[in-house]
Amino acid sequence: MAVFGIGKPNIEKLKKKKDVNGLIEALQHRDENIRKKSIKALGDLKDKRAIEPLIQALKDKDEDIRINVIEALGKIKSNEVVDLLIKTLKDKNKKIRKSAAEALEMIGQPAVEHLIVSLKNKNDNIRRDAVKAFGEVKDKKAVDYIIQALKDKNRNVRKEAAKALGKRKDPRSVKPLIEAMKDENVEVQKCAIQALGNIKDEFSLEFIIKALKNNDKFIRKHAVEALGKFKSPKAVKPLIKAMGEEEWTVHWPAVQALKSMGQIAVKPLIKVIDHKNLGSSAKHILDWMNLRCARCKTKLQTKRYLPGGIILGEEEYNQWTTKTKRQLSRVAYKCRNCDTLQCRVCAEKYQCPGCSNNVFDVFLISER
Ligand SMILES: [Zn+2]
Ligand SMILES: [Zn+2]
Repeated sequence: MAVFGIGKPNIEKLKKKKDVNGLIEALQHRDENIRKKSIKALGDLKDKRAIEPLIQALKDKDEDIRINVIEALGKIKSNEVVDLLIKTLKDKNKKIRKSAAEALEMIGQPAVEHLIVSLKNKNDNIRRDAVKAFGEVKDKKAVDYIIQALKDKNRNVRKEAAKALGKRKDPRSVKPLIEAMKDENVEVQKCAIQALGNIKDEFSLEFIIKALKNNDKFIRKHAVEALGKFKSPKAVKPLIKAMGEEEWTVHWPAVQALKSMGQIAVKPLIKVIDHKNLGSSAKHILDWMNLRCARCKTKLQTKRYLPGGIILGEEEYNQWTTKTKRQLSRVAYKCRNCDTLQCRVCAEKYQCPGCSNNVFDVFLISER
């Protein structure tokens, strides 16, 4: 039964009667809520006749409507829908891409089988899109297929495969990705490094560190960014070295990576604070970090400008009045032996918690 002009179509009633045609007609209704309800009802009825009209409704300007359509299509499991969803993974809108991925996952097994067939297609673009979609489907088998695709003859397929493996974070893909770092195509190499940075498997660490010696500055940049994600003490020294590069493309990500490392980077950075190339960057990072006393965890003061005036060094500090000193209880003290930082109060009372030494220097890092 067609729905007439006056009054709104009763979607619940149409759904109960399984009136697919009536619901399809309601897709054209100017009331957005009616459109939404009929989309949902069509998804629940899982009738294949609704596929074509729903695909048309995917052109709706309203983002919510499009997301509803994708969800409905995900409920109607058919190859036609899988193809469409694979294409939708390339949509400009992030929310739309996400719901397409979720719909593919909801379809599950039939989607996986369809994708396996697509991976053998002669068309490079179809294989590339299938690999990308495989990254979204949480099927155990999928990882094996994506790993195979790392050896595809087409570089775009290999690139997508590396990206998809970075999303899946499966330990089985670590060695194949390390192999892919030697791919003849630079873009594939970059994606492999990025993927390894996402997976953060210790085994790949040394290979990424080696990539810091690559001639291509963008490969080095990606290696730096990947190392920053590991938050491993082993990554700190190589990152400090990369920070010394004149090449801004590498230098700046290294600074950012070290900032994100937190506590594990503090002592290695203190060690290079007087280095002619590394010093000012190291100071910048330490200044930016919230340094804390190793004993009482109070936040340390490391600026040259302090409430009592300008500090120039230890000698001047000793000339300060007791009142100023009290104001400056949070000033940082560095163990001369092991670079452990403490607040003034702790340093005056106790030995270094790191090495039991008791010789400290006032530790100031600010240039100002
Ligand atoms: Zn303290
Ligand atoms: Zn010490």
